[in-house]
Amino acid sequence: MGLGRMGWHMAAHLAGDGHGHDVVVFDVVESATDSWIAEHRGSVAPSVAAAVADAEMIITSLPADAQVRLVIGEAIDAVARGAVWIDHSTISADGAREHCATLGDRGVAFLDAPVSGGVDGARNGSLTVMVGGSREAFTRAEGIMTAYAARMTLMGGSGAGQVTKMTNQICVVGVCQALAEGLDFAMSAGLDAHAVVEAMLQGSSTSWQMQNRAAQMIDGEFDFGFSTSLMRKDIGLVLDEARAMNVSLPVTALVSQFLADVDALGGADLDWCSLMMRQRQFAPGRRGSETP
Ligand code: NAD
Repeated sequence: MGLGRMGWHMAAHLAGDGHGHDVVVFDVVESATDSWIAEHRGSVAPSVAAAVADAEMIITSLPADAQVRLVIGEAIDAVARGAVWIDHSTISADGAREHCATLGDRGVAFLDAPVSGGVDGARNGSLTVMVGGSREAFTRAEGIMTAYAARMTLMGGSGAGQVTKMTNQICVVGVCQALAEGLDFAMSAGLDAHAVVEAMLQGSSTSWQMQNRAAQMIDGEFDFGFSTSLMRKDIGLVLDEARAMNVSLPVTALVSQFLADVDALGGADLDWCSLMMRQRQFAPGRRGSETP
C-alpha cells in the first residue's frame, strides 16, 4: 500500500518474474494503481480493508505518521491473525511502538522497516532496510524483502529501525550542505565543477551524495528523488527525538532551517539536494539580483 516513488518499485519487484509473489496493491490515488496494474502482474484492492483481508504480509510505503495511522485504523478489523506488517515509511519511533502494540493485540506482528538508498535503490532492488521488531517476524519478512533490498538488519525491538533511520538522516544532511558549499565555491572560482568532482571522487571527501547528486546539483536539476518536504519531515522526527533525549544536534538543526528556505523558494517537491539552489542564491554576482 502506497505506490509512490518508492512503493511503486518495491511492489514491481515483488510481482516480477524473479520473485512472483501474489501481489495486491492499494493507493488512495486511483491513477497510481491504474498505471501500476497496466504494467505489472497482480490485482488492485478497492480499499485498505480489502487489501489486507487475506494477506500474509502487509507492506506499506506511506508518506508520514498520519497516513500510517490512518491506514492501520482502516485495516485493523480486517487484518488476518498471524500476518506480518512491514512498514517501510519513515515515521516516529513512538508511532512505530504504538502500532506494534495495537496490531500485536490482534495477533499481527509489526516491523518498523524504514529504508535508505533512494528511488534508484528501490528501482534497482538494492535498498538498505533498518528494522525494529521481533526476531521471529524479521525472519519471516526477510525472504520477502530480498525482492527489493540488498541489506536488511534487525536493529532491536520496536522503534529501533526508525531510530537507526534517524541516525542515517543526521549523517547525510550536513554532508549534502557541505557538498553544496564546496560546489558553489568551485563554480564561483570559475572551475569546471564536474571536473572538480571527478578529481575528488576517489579522495577523502567522497560520499554517496557526491557520487549520486553532485552532477544534478551543478546542473541545477532537482526534479526527481526524495522531496525536500519529506526530508523536512524526517529531520523534524530527528529533532523531536533528540530533544526528548537532550542530545545536541547543531548542524542538523541548522540544515533544517536551510531546508525551510528551500521550501520557501518553491523547492518543496524537488529533491532535497536543492539545498544547492539556496546556496547558489548567494553566489557572487547573484546576490539580490537574480532568483535561483
Ligand atoms: P510518495 O509521496 O511518492 O508516495 C507515497 C504514496 O502513498 C503515494 O502514492 C500516496 O498516494 C500514497 N498514500 C498516501 N496516503 C495513503 C493512504 N491513506 N492509503 C494508501 N496510499 C496512500 O513518497 P515516497 O517518496 O515513495 O516515500 C514513501 C516513504 O519512504 C516516506 O516515508 C519517505 O520518507 C520514505 N523514503 C523515501 C525515499 C525517497 O527517496 N523517495 C527514500 C527513503 C525513504
